[in-house]
Amino acid sequence: MDIHTTDDAVTRRINFFTERVRKLREDDLYFYNLPVEEIKGGSRVVVGGREMGMYASYSYLGLIGHPRINAAAKAAVDKFGTGTNGVRLLAGTLTLHTELEETIAAFKHAEAAVTYSSGYVTNLTVLSSLMGRGDFVISDKLNHASIVDGCLMSGAEFRRFKHNDMDELERRLQQVPGDAAKLVVADAVFSMDGDVLDLPRTVEICKKYNAWLMIDEAHSVGVLGKTGRGIEEHFGLGDVIDIKMGTLSKTIPSVGGYVAGKKELVQYLRHASRAFIFSAALPPAQAAAANEAFKVILDEPWRIEKVCANGEQFIKGLKGAGFDTMLSTTAIVPVLCGTDERAYKLTQVCHHNDLFVLPVVSPAVPEGQARLRATVTAAHEPKEIEYALGVIEKAGHEIGII
Ligand SMILES: *Cc1c(COP(=O)(O)O)cnc(C)c1O
Repeated sequence: MDIHTTDDAVTRRINFFTERVRKLREDDLYFYNLPVEEIKGGSRVVVGGREMGMYASYSYLGLIGHPRINAAAKAAVDKFGTGTNGVRLLAGTLTLHTELEETIAAFKHAEAAVTYSSGYVTNLTVLSSLMGRGDFVISDKLNHASIVDGCLMSGAEFRRFKHNDMDELERRLQQVPGDAAKLVVADAVFSMDGDVLDLPRTVEICKKYNAWLMIDEAHSVGVLGKTGRGIEEHFGLGDVIDIKMGTLSKTIPSVGGYVAGKKELVQYLRHASRAFIFSAALPPAQAAAANEAFKVILDEPWRIEKVCANGEQFIKGLKGAGFDTMLSTTAIVPVLCGTDERAYKLTQVCHHNDLFVLPVVSPAVPEGQARLRATVTAAHEPKEIEYALGVIEKAGHEIGII
């Protein structure tokens, strides 16, 4: 079938991207979907035959390829094979899953935890099984797409507040009619800006208005808190989040998502959330790898200190050169460029100088706020970061960003 012969909305959508990608490729400004050929330690990769420094990784503690984690995955394959007998509720649950969920609960100082096959699916299924028509879900404007999709899927009234603006959060809650159920949801560390949610105020406001609180810790586990336990530890607040959501695909070098919380909440999700009932269990290797990774984080606290120090070095260097890194205080460092074109250009120079980094452009971020979304991890050495800073600074001048 030739899709170009019809002119319906589907064709127009496809054609729009066909043209956009074609144009970028033509100008040597297309950097997405590049296959990595080889992983060289935690901080370097081979792409297109060239060894490059990795500045786009979510593996914040540099745990991909960790010998203990690899060994756990291999042992799980030897014992259980590569798949499961189905969905978790029925025949899919293995002792590996219950061990992993106990490990997560202990790590998060929660009573219990439940896992799903991805972080994305976790947000969809948890939000849509807790919230429903007539309820109100209040969401930070910069929340991750999976949160937004989960809110919409739930059928609840969807209200947003200005990013990290606690007065507006309070106003949104005041607007909810009397006895409607309310849930406030936010990222702990925002995935495009790298800044941290004002959790103390959020908790206070949720208590005042009797709202449930759900926090997505995709970018805070292993990064925030002295022992890497996340945003509650970071603020020294103890157990204040009702629904502690996270992924197993970033700092934890596996795949999957989880929710930790009170045992009744977890039991409800085990019986009511559709992704637990209608989608296959995590494969053995991934469950075992995730379980071991939480233990490695506790056994190797130097990694947390190092990712924080590397983040500070990177942010300080960029700011010193005149770049705007927004409000980031973490390992996610936006390098603001302005127009999409400038962001693509800066990426191009980085790639030519063996830095693997990616641009984020509109509509993923507001128009005029295109950026490199750079990350550092515990695997980088200060010397490598210095080199990266040199490349970015020189290019920033050439392109006219600084
Ligand atoms: C990556 C991410 C997710 C999705 O997690 P996956 O495990 O990759 O599906 C959810 N929330 C946030 C904030 C994320 O950054």
